[in-house]
Amino acid sequence: MPRTRRKAREVMRVLRSDALLPEYDRGTAPEGLVARRTLREMGLSPGDNRGPVAILRCRLCATRPNWACRHPTRGFLLRVDLARPKRLPTLAQELALDRATAARSTCPKCSRRYFYCLPLRTVGSCDPCARGYKPTPGTYVLTTTPVTHRLAA
Ligand SMILES: [Zn+2]
Ligand SMILES: [Zn+2]
Repeated sequence: MPRTRRKAREVMRVLRSDALLPEYDRGTAPEGLVARRTLREMGLSPGDNRGPVAILRCRLCATRPNWACRHPTRGFLLRVDLARPKRLPTLAQELALDRATAARSTCPKCSRRYFYCLPLRTVGSCDPCARGYKPTPGTYVLTTTPVTHRLAA
């Protein structure tokens, strides 16, 4: 039945101008758009991407520029600017953690930052302030300015 076979083939074909998403041949995709797999290789997750924004046409379709690529080997392009780093914790989380540690190890009376956590809930200050003696050098950070950016590698 040659008639039905031809009909089925016509249904599969979609004019490139009727395609739902813009299509790009390999190597011609605009900057900022990458395939899902490339995004993964960059260490990124789709992030705020809500589905693909364009299609990366398969190799075969480069010879058929008028037809939309409907082949399984096509790629789905996502926006790099909406992607998010895959790995956690992020720098912001580390910074927040470091601030929390700084708050626990800084004496509110003498503003020294110690290398250990202070009994702020029970005593309310460092031991030298509570008992009135000079702190041992080497137990606190020597800089006078408050430490705001000390990331533990
Ligand atoms: Zn194709
Ligand atoms: Zn103190």
